[in-house]
Amino acid sequence: MTPFESVYQTLYQAYGPQGWWPIVDRTSRPLHCVYVPQNTTRIKTEAECFEICVGAVLTQNTNWSNAEKALVSLIEADYLSPEALAEADTAYIAELITSSGYYNQKAKKLKAFSAFFLTRPKPERPLFLSIWGLGPETVDDMLLYAYDHPVFVVDLYTKRLFSRLGLCSERIDYHDLQAKISAGIEKDVTLYKEYHALIVRHAKEFCRKTPVCGQCPLRSQCKAVQAASVP
Ligand code: SF4
Repeated sequence: MTPFESVYQTLYQAYGPQGWWPIVDRTSRPLHCVYVPQNTTRIKTEAECFEICVGAVLTQNTNWSNAEKALVSLIEADYLSPEALAEADTAYIAELITSSGYYNQKAKKLKAFSAFFLTRPKPERPLFLSIWGLGPETVDDMLLYAYDHPVFVVDLYTKRLFSRLGLCSERIDYHDLQAKISAGIEKDVTLYKEYHALIVRHAKEFCRKTPVCGQCPLRSQCKAVQAASVP
């Protein structure tokens, strides 16, 4: 078993399935996202695919709770569709998504992405990366969770965890870390989805900015603990 497989096994045993990507339950009151294991494997409708992509933009530089409020606000205003957002006034979109922060920039990104989505693009990474305002992490979120495209999502939590475990340098580049992880695990969409969600969960529970190492399930595999560079 490779070190990346071993970390996955430990995290999965500790936390179980995470039910990513969260989808808004339109029957809930107040409206909110649900995390169910089926989210990871079932084929998404076009509307869900669009919702996931919008969520990936809204969660840039903020936590999911703020992004979720913005998503709900778009749904309540009946603007969570590519047609509506592509046509909408940027200032109005910004008003609806204020809770997500950087709302003027994100409103422009959503408008640009919506026009692109209406062309029914193939899930090709260079194509998505050519859209204004979409970086590798956002695009990989979209490709993996909305389009079931096998690409591993790397974020700050991923880099922090694997550098502390001694599996990469703290300064490793996005694509180098992505390639390293991809080479160390089976190429499988469901695994990629679950692994990224588990890393986020672990970063919130234990491997925080200031880590809480005492009861961490990865403690025995962690180089930072062995080097006494963390508590
Ligand atoms: S032992 Fe501490 S630093 Fe290592 S993975 Fe766990 S929480 Fe992070």
